[in-house]
Amino acid sequence: MIYGAIEAGGTKFVCAVSDENLTILERVSIPTTTPEETMKEVFAFFDQHQPNAIGIGSFGPIDVNPLSETYGFITSTPKVAWQDYPFLNEMKKRYDIPFGWTTDVNAAAYGEMKKGAAVGKSSCMYITVGTGIGAGIVVDGKVIHGYGHPEAGHLLVRRHVEDTYEGTCPFHKDCLEGLAAGPAIGNRFETPAQNLPTDHKAWEIEAHYLAQALVSYTLTVSPEKIIFGGGVMKQKQLFPLIYKEFEKLMNGYVATPNLEDYIVPCQLEDNAGITGCLLLAEDALNNK
Ligand code: ADP
Ligand code: ZN
Repeated sequence: MIYGAIEAGGTKFVCAVSDENLTILERVSIPTTTPEETMKEVFAFFDQHQPNAIGIGSFGPIDVNPLSETYGFITSTPKVAWQDYPFLNEMKKRYDIPFGWTTDVNAAAYGEMKKGAAVGKSSCMYITVGTGIGAGIVVDGKVIHGYGHPEAGHLLVRRHVEDTYEGTCPFHKDCLEGLAAGPAIGNRFETPAQNLPTDHKAWEIEAHYLAQALVSYTLTVSPEKIIFGGGVMKQKQLFPLIYKEFEKLMNGYVATPNLEDYIVPCQLEDNAGITGCLLLAEDALNNK
């Protein structure tokens, strides 16, 4: 059995194939340009390997509602060339095999739950803080889809009293992503986030926003683990700042595990998404 995976990101598509133990046999990275160019290379890769099922974790928003006419489409993405692209249909036209289909962050959450920081749990959230903020949710061992899919990176947050930065989100300006993704940190202090010293005020402001989101996630989803990925979370000094702020905001209202065990960095690093996609391929084949 060969499983296929596509982690479709806004900058690159990572495609991989594995054996049935999910050991990766080969992977490629393809730049995200236009569907014509990018998909040509995706097809070339899978034509060569002929997987028995493929799991796709895509940037979005995407349509995950099987009853919808645009199920399997990338929908209102700011990446114009990919707006209303029938991604899953195009894959199904080419390969008559079972498919898994979810968001990139749901796939990463699933990967971390089965093979990473949340092994042994049946629920978790995965939050990536990078160019944007995205959150994937697994509950009862399944990625969450509803009418759409969670977009918990766009939660509305209270401003830090010293923060006057307007925010970058094209839809909401000062939502969580607008105030706390990498570009917001960079713009606020006119320095790329990775160049700010570890004791800079930026990290206290960042923790203020991220902790608010985590309190909301805890109150609505009550996941067993909250796992952080993405470039910004390489700043490890953020973790204690987030714990402190989380404790202050929650104020003892609901019990959580020890915060050091509850709010953790991802374990699979750059492999979380692709691992989740391979697992979704396996599930798709088993549920065929
Ligand atoms: P992407 O989200 O595009 O997959 P990243 O997770 O690397 O990629 O996110 C890029 C954003 O994260 C940029 O805004 C960058 O400034 C910021 N970033 C990347 N690495 C770091 C770092 N080590 N520390 C702080 N910010 C970082
Ligand atoms: Zn927003």
